[in-house]
Amino acid sequence: MREIRYEDIVKSVAKLCVEACCVQTPDIKKAFENAKNKESSPLGKSILDKLIENGKIAEKSFIPICQDTGMAVVFLEVGQDVRIVGGYLEDAINEGIKEGYVGGYLRKSVVEEPLFERKNTTNNTPAVIHTRIVKGDKLGITMAAKGFGSENKSILKMLVPADGIDGVKKVFKEAIDLAGPNACPPLVVGVGIGGTMEKAAILAKIAAVREVGSHNSDPRYAKLEDELLEIANNSGVGPQGLGGNTTAFAINVEWYPTHIAGLPVAININCHAARHAHIEL
Ligand code: SF4
Repeated sequence: MREIRYEDIVKSVAKLCVEACCVQTPDIKKAFENAKNKESSPLGKSILDKLIENGKIAEKSFIPICQDTGMAVVFLEVGQDVRIVGGYLEDAINEGIKEGYVGGYLRKSVVEEPLFERKNTTNNTPAVIHTRIVKGDKLGITMAAKGFGSENKSILKMLVPADGIDGVKKVFKEAIDLAGPNACPPLVVGVGIGGTMEKAAILAKIAAVREVGSHNSDPRYAKLEDELLEIANNSGVGPQGLGGNTTAFAINVEWYPTHIAGLPVAININCHAARHAHIEL
């Protein structure tokens, strides 16, 4: 049994928070450059230039790419041969989020309860944590800083099998139209298909942090990703919603087996900031 220390997890998570919020991942940088070359609208091109410049300034000065540094969503892949010593794993994650957001001067955007007092927790905890037990003796941590301008535009629909591919495309188009300029396009959209209601939503979230430029390993779903990207980029929304053909950088689809009577579909929208960082301990 390999041991991983509580304090090492705290330190790593704190670092991931600052890194995710201040440094664009290489796939997003590349997506911006590609989009700039393909964008047909002069205004759209100029907005892409400004967003590229914004990313460079953020990285150089280590300041956040956007003022909304999001709610922390953490995906854990815990090897079954790992033992956490010195404390409880979820406490370590939240302690790391606290250190990262307070020490990194990132905006604290989380409220204690959602409906009545909505009092800020002042340290951006708790994180939303999704844990999977996997083979091996490593601990994988992916931290996504999820802004709510885009999160609020996400959709979940319980379709029936007869709705088929056209039904999925209709839900997707509905989400893109609903998002319009408010989700700060160009978007990275995660689509989760199958499973149950909550599984589809989690798949969509996982898809939203998948690398831009990657494709689903099943060619049928890879083709669907391309078709959905075309739908998004033909919508005319464009960079920051001011028109153009770069409404999305990528549409990533993840799927799971489902019930004979169902076809759950979830669309999770990520803005151009699409912030996430990963470490393996
Ligand atoms: S949607 Fe993204 S870019 Fe827009 S305000 Fe929120 S975090 Fe910032």
